[in-house]
Amino acid sequence: MNQHTLSMRLERVAAHVPAGARLADIGSDHGYLPVALMRRGLITFAVAGEVALTPFSAAERTVRENAMEQRITVRLASGLAAITPGDAITAISICGMGGETIRDILDSGKARLSGQERLILQPNGGEQPLRQWLMENGYRIHREELLQENRFDYEIIVAEHDGPVLYSPEQLFFGPLQMQVRSPAFLLKWQRILRHKQQNLANLARAQQAVPEHKVQEIARQAQWIIELLA
Ligand code: SAM
Repeated sequence: MNQHTLSMRLERVAAHVPAGARLADIGSDHGYLPVALMRRGLITFAVAGEVALTPFSAAERTVRENAMEQRITVRLASGLAAITPGDAITAISICGMGGETIRDILDSGKARLSGQERLILQPNGGEQPLRQWLMENGYRIHREELLQENRFDYEIIVAEHDGPVLYSPEQLFFGPLQMQVRSPAFLLKWQRILRHKQQNLANLARAQQAVPEHKVQEIARQAQWIIELLA
């Protein structure tokens, strides 16, 4: 992967960035996503935010090597602290982190969101708490994608601040749009997870040490949801 050839995962994220956007890519690592989008003429301005020094320097190098310093600003900052009102950001991508981390970035940076930005989020797990945050903060989920790359499942969630919206616990768990579409990849994913949960429940039943009852019940409830989904 580089600024010319993105991974399939980042290609799908890129596809949800509106043409002409002013993008903030938070946790940009090498800065490949904003640089690739700028090279293709699909965005007009970008901030690449990074909390860690090594990826921050890597992003600076990618931007410099592509002579894009005037159009892509690389900032060393945690989360949405990389954005200023003057950036007039219209899209924010936060990709390749746990869903809880993405939720915490959005929550602690709430004051920096104007509500006009499209959020393009690609959590690695933890989708449920992330969807919960979106719902509680007036973000409706407009698109959801599930893709497999290198044998990993990746989800992409595109949300905009045009709620209020109310999702059921099952919709928060599976994804409201994915539940409707029921793509083959989605059904396969949940078949795999059901096998894993049933194995987990069997192991817990055999466990010598006491396992908190609420934990067992939570897994059993989720397994039941999956059985109903697949029925
Ligand atoms: N977004 C790229 C992608 O999807 O390929 C890079 C993903 S990389 C696994 C996660 C990056 O997020 C790391 O470079 C890490 O330093 C950065 N990161 C983690 N927490 C962050 C935060 N609070 N603010 C900014 N960057 C963060």
